[in-house]
Amino acid sequence: MKIICIAGLIGSGKDEVAKYISDKYGYEIIDYANILREIVRNEGLEVTRENLQNTRLKYGNTFLAEIVIKKIKESEKQKIILTPMRRSEDYLIPKKEFGSNMQMILVEVSAKVRFKRLSKRGRENDPKDFTTFKKQEKREFEIFNFKKTFSYADFKVNNNGNMNQLRIKIDDVMKKIDKSEPEVLLRQIVHPHSPRKFIIMGPQGSGKGTHAERLAKEMSILHVSSGDLLRDVAQQNTKQGKEIKHLLTTGKLLSDELVFDLLKKRLSKKDASKGYIIDGFPRNIKQTKTLEKTIEIDKVIYLNVSDKECLRRLSGRTQCEKCKAIYGNENQPKIKGKCDQCGGSLYVREDDKESVIKTRLKVYHDQTEPILDLYRKNGKLVEIKINGIKQPDEVFTDILKALGM
Ligand code: AMP
Repeated sequence: MKIICIAGLIGSGKDEVAKYISDKYGYEIIDYANILREIVRNEGLEVTRENLQNTRLKYGNTFLAEIVIKKIKESEKQKIILTPMRRSEDYLIPKKEFGSNMQMILVEVSAKVRFKRLSKRGRENDPKDFTTFKKQEKREFEIFNFKKTFSYADFKVNNNGNMNQLRIKIDDVMKKIDKSEPEVLLRQIVHPHSPRKFIIMGPQGSGKGTHAERLAKEMSILHVSSGDLLRDVAQQNTKQGKEIKHLLTTGKLLSDELVFDLLKKRLSKKDASKGYIIDGFPRNIKQTKTLEKTIEIDKVIYLNVSDKECLRRLSGRTQCEKCKAIYGNENQPKIKGKCDQCGGSLYVREDDKESVIKTRLKVYHDQTEPILDLYRKNGKLVEIKINGIKQPDEVFTDILKALGM
C-alpha cells in the first residue's frame, strides 16, 4: 500500500503532479479540496474561496483528515494520492494511521513563476496583479501552517520548468517510492478479511519464487517453497538427506507424502499463522486433492509464461545458499556470486542445468498443468499472462491488480 501526499503553494502545479502520477502509475486521487467543496455545497453555500476557508475554520482542523482516513480505508485501490496538503493535520492525522505507507512530495516553484501561471489560468479568484497575489498568499499562510506541513516532505520536486522536465523528476521520485518498503501494511488495516492463503503456480522460471517472496513481504505472510524445504533436507548428512539430494538432481517429482509432510510441518509453525503463499505445491492432481482436504485455499496465482522464455531465464539463474534469494539474467547481483540481501554465496542449482530443466518442464506440463483446470473451474484461479519480456515490477503490479489489491 502506498499513499503519496502532494504539497505545494498556490500555483505550484500540484494538480498536474497528482494527475500525472494517477494516470501513469494507477493511483486514485483523494482530494481534500473536493471533499471540502462537497461539504460547502451540502451546506447550501456557494463554492467561493471565502466559504471554503470559513467552513474549514468552522469545523476545526481534524475533521477533513478523518473523512480522508475513512475514504482511504474504503478504497479498493492500494495506491492513493492525497492532495493538497495544507494544514499539518492533513498530513499528521493520516500519518498516525498509515505510518510509513505515506510519503510526501513537495512541489516547489518560485513566486514569480507561480504568479505568471495563475494570471494565465484565468479562474475567477486568480490574482490579476502581483500585489494581489502576494496578499492572497499571505492570507493562506495565516490560515494554513504551510511551513510546518512542508517540513514533513520526503521528496522535493522543482517545477519552475516545463511539463516534460517535471515528468522526469516525478518519475525519479516514483522509482524511489516504488522501492521503499512500508513497515505498516495498510492492506491488513483495510482488508482485514482479505484472502491470506495463496498458491502460486507456473512453469519453472516463470518467476514464482521471486513473486511469491515479494507478495509475502507485501502482505506480511509467509512464503513457503516446497523446493526449498526439500533442498534444506538434502543438505542434512542423513540417509534421507542424501537420498533427496540425489533425487533432486533428476528433475522428477519426489514422493507426494514426503513433500506434503514437510509442508504441513512448516505451515504449523507460528510464523504461518497470518497466512502464506505456497510455491511448488501441489504439483499433481493427487497432491491437489490432499491439500484441499486440509487447507481452504483462497486464490491460486498462475504465472503463464512460455517454455521458450522460461528456458531463456533459467539459463542464467543462481540462488543464494543462505537466504534462498534468486538472481537471473534480468536481476544480476551487484557483486558477482554474492547475494545482495545477505552476502551469502550464489550457486547454480543442480536442477537448473539444461537437461534437467527440460525434464522439469515436461513434468510440469504432464502432471502439474492439469491442476490449473480444477482451480479454473472452482473460480480460484487468477491468471497472469506474461507475453514476451516483462519487467518483474510490471508483473508484480499485474498480480496485485488481479488480486484486487
Ligand atoms: P522447485 O524449486 O519448486 O522447482 O522444486 C525443485 C524440485 O523439488 C522439483 O524438481 C522436484 O523434484 C521437487 N519438488 C518440489 N516440490 C514438489 C512437490 N510438490 N512434489 C514433488 N516433488 C517436488
